[in-house]
Amino acid sequence: MREASRHCSTCETQRLIVAAKPNHVLHLLLTLVTGGLWFPVWAWLSMGASKGRCATCGTVVSFKEPRAGIVLRPWVQFSDTERRDGVIAVVLIVVVALLFAGYR
Ligand SMILES: [Zn+2]
Repeated sequence: MREASRHCSTCETQRLIVAAKPNHVLHLLLTLVTGGLWFPVWAWLSMGASKGRCATCGTVVSFKEPRAGIVLRPWVQFSDTERRDGVIAVVLIVVVALLFAGYR
């Protein structure tokens, strides 16, 4: 599960927003099966183009919605878990790229 604190418009306060994170194993298989055509979709999903739901009321909230005010350092919005998932995604992508380079 991807989790982050965001402002919920229904609760009108900061709430825990949760969403299923990308299934990297599934995306790796899809990328291999489609000969790499699925790769852009995987990359897009891994960059967090997803929405979550308020854990309290269920309202759909975008993870990209900024906190109050101008965000000068957007990376501080990511939790340690999200950073770890990002590193895992990058490592998997590099491994797939090396596999494809090796088969040529
Ligand atoms: Zn809510």
